[in-house]
Amino acid sequence: MTRDASLITLALSKGRIFDETLPLLKAAGIEVAEDPEKSRKLILATNRPDVRVVLVRATDVPTYVQYGGADLGVAGKDVLLEHGGQGLYQPLDLNIARCRMSVAVRDDFDYAAAVKQGSRIRVATKYTTVARQHFADKGVHVDLIKLYGSMELAPLTGLADAIVDLVSTGSTLKANHLVEVEHIMPISSRLVVNQAALKLKRSTLRALIDAFAAATNVNLAKE
Ligand code: ATP
Ligand code: MG
Repeated sequence: MTRDASLITLALSKGRIFDETLPLLKAAGIEVAEDPEKSRKLILATNRPDVRVVLVRATDVPTYVQYGGADLGVAGKDVLLEHGGQGLYQPLDLNIARCRMSVAVRDDFDYAAAVKQGSRIRVATKYTTVARQHFADKGVHVDLIKLYGSMELAPLTGLADAIVDLVSTGSTLKANHLVEVEHIMPISSRLVVNQAALKLKRSTLRALIDAFAAATNVNLAKE
């Protein structure tokens, strides 16, 4: 947990998680002092002298929280499944940054036939843990190719037959002549808390978690 016993450090990633966490923070009485898109700062102050925000890569949020570089953070279920969740207390699904994890192929690829034939299919993905489990459950043999970005390109270039990726509207797939052939699971972002920090900074963290829970319920009620 972060060194100063009274300071709370919250790890967020720039982009949709930051943007969708802001209203929840606001409902908890916390306002971030700066816009990360306009500043190069990696540590942002808030209106609460005892709360600061650190900006890290989405996939690094669980690592920062696990080792105490941050007391708590917001991370997608996709990222948490790949990380494994060791050392993290996950008290709350914030229901933000929602999408789904899916299998997609080129629109001219016969996925059903490929799967039925029992032949090996090549799957490119950033989410190798989830993909391996998914195809093992189906009894489909796969060769997994780990990618870090632009997965849509893999079936188009012949690198892979299929991809496992996050889909929200489906417009990126469509623009690249890909179709979704299976939904693996719904994805949203969760609050993650360092377990040692939860003991040592219990009252402050509990109050924050409760405020987040109340704000999340307000969101749910509006839907
Ligand atoms: P980078 O874009 O820097 O390579 P990233 O792709 O992991 O990193 P984001 O695109 O900001 O970062 O995604 C952060 C999180 O938001 C993901 O881990 C996922 O939980 C969620 N997310 C990703 N894509 C979508 C989407 N299309 N719709 C809704 N939520 C998404
Ligand atoms: Mg991205």
